[in-house]
Amino acid sequence: MLRSHTCGELRKAHVGTEVVLSGWVQRSRDKGGLLWVDLRDRYGITQLTFDESKTDASVMDTARKLGREFVVQAKGLVVERYSKNDKIQTGEIELEVTELEILNAAKTPPFIIEDNTDGGEDLRMKYRYLDLRRNEVRSKLALRSKLAIAVRNYLADLEFIEVETPVLIKSTPEGARDFVVPSRINQGQFYALPQSPQTFKQLLMVSGFDRYFQIVKCFRDEDLRADRQPEFTQIDCEMSFVNRDDVLGVFEGMTRHLFKTIKGVELDKFPHMTYADAMEKYGSDKPDVRFGMEFVNLNEQTQQKGFNVFDQAELVVGICAKGCAEYTRKQLDALTDFVRRPQIGAKGMVYMKCNTDGTFKSSVDKFYSQEDLKGWAEKANAEAGDLLLVLSGGQNSVRKQMNELRLHMGEALGLRNPDDFSPLWVVDFPLLEWDEETERYHAMHHPFTSPLVEDIEKLDTTPGNVRANAYDMVINGVEIGGGSIRIHDKEMQKLMFKHLGFTDEEAKAQFGFLMDAFEYGAPPHGGIAFGFDRLCAMFGGSETIRDYIAFPKNTSGRDVMIDSPSPVDENQLKELGIGLS
Ligand code: ASP
Repeated sequence: MLRSHTCGELRKAHVGTEVVLSGWVQRSRDKGGLLWVDLRDRYGITQLTFDESKTDASVMDTARKLGREFVVQAKGLVVERYSKNDKIQTGEIELEVTELEILNAAKTPPFIIEDNTDGGEDLRMKYRYLDLRRNEVRSKLALRSKLAIAVRNYLADLEFIEVETPVLIKSTPEGARDFVVPSRINQGQFYALPQSPQTFKQLLMVSGFDRYFQIVKCFRDEDLRADRQPEFTQIDCEMSFVNRDDVLGVFEGMTRHLFKTIKGVELDKFPHMTYADAMEKYGSDKPDVRFGMEFVNLNEQTQQKGFNVFDQAELVVGICAKGCAEYTRKQLDALTDFVRRPQIGAKGMVYMKCNTDGTFKSSVDKFYSQEDLKGWAEKANAEAGDLLLVLSGGQNSVRKQMNELRLHMGEALGLRNPDDFSPLWVVDFPLLEWDEETERYHAMHHPFTSPLVEDIEKLDTTPGNVRANAYDMVINGVEIGGGSIRIHDKEMQKLMFKHLGFTDEEAKAQFGFLMDAFEYGAPPHGGIAFGFDRLCAMFGGSETIRDYIAFPKNTSGRDVMIDSPSPVDENQLKELGIGLS
């Protein structure tokens, strides 16, 4: 080893020992006769000292040549520091260097590699390998590793087997666009990268694996947002001979275990909420239930009183902001501006203040008497001092808008504490979703999801009302995982494909292998997949998954460090039989 200790290891107890350290020069200070160098490695920082009156002249010379990020080896004596530094773990000691070797010189880095860096996001991404030297960045990846290991241990203890599934496959229908890879040997044909290992894990159940998991890369060619990456990681799982509650039990157990062992947080039993309730009370299938502020349907209280906007609305819905009756005109205008932003798209917002003197004040006083407004307050359980915010319109759009306003208010009132965790299961999702553009139904989860048995008969009459045996794990308004009990019967699967608008031939061409497998004894099975990057971000208390990925892509899907995607050689294209027009 080129060192006897790491840079984070030495303490007062080591005083008087001869040691060898290796690492990077974080910074050096030259005070004439005295020189200090902060030597850094993954484990910490140790101060090296050089003193003209004691240190060998050649060592002194070498020390004066050191620049930021030089890689050096230093031998010396551990001594107690005169002025201690309680900010670092080695702050009680320093190393009086007797031998110094430059193992590798370094160019001046493009940004300062310290906790407080002067490097902007783009620059740090271009030099990601330098950014990864910073504690903050590296510690996020260390957390990721810890989580992955804990997951593996937990599932292995429960007899889950980790199986790798192929990356060059055929399209998997998870609702996104596939990344495709041309085949040289089979010109004109393409592989697709898996959007998830869905069909393979189901085949493993047919193979009798009983309990499968895999921490696996998935690929989806979607428009990117801050929390999306074209390649991301799932904890993908599948179990045989289970019903929904068996699957939920195992993975609630796993999540609780992770929170307890990694964050020291004890979680209660996860409540269940139906999709229908989630939409009605929170306007979202991933409600943030750290706080109440549930939606209140005000149709009965507000319609037929001459206010046209409400009369024409399918839904008039309110939320009660506790203790906000004192909001100023300016604050209320800001809320109206918020809901009117094009991303949210409300036309306007109505408010009603429950004054402390027992009177009510609304922005639509012209149409409503004090008695009417009292009715609103009663329906919303609003008390003196509270503020009611009301939106109206088509049910689907107004719920979405109110969801945004509720989250915004929750944030403004400090009700979304990142250290509180409120998990829940959202269950009974619709099986099918109508797509306006293609004018046909799509599987809301994926086409292998089983309908609830009691709803099967509705498939022919009111397919939009059929519920799926599908579930999502939601924590603090974030979808952490989702899965379903699967169809394991060929006829049922055929019926499902038919409802999704596949002809028999199309279904056979795309999923013939799965339907064939179902004819050789497929056990009842179900599973779930967790967004691992997102789980890491949640554990780390951050919003962006990018921070938890060693070499992420930017919002245009580019890796700016390796400069990819990039053109390929014309010969490469020729070999693939591809011409660019
Ligand atoms: N394959 C699904 C997904 O990626 C998860 C599952 O149903 O297990 O969302």
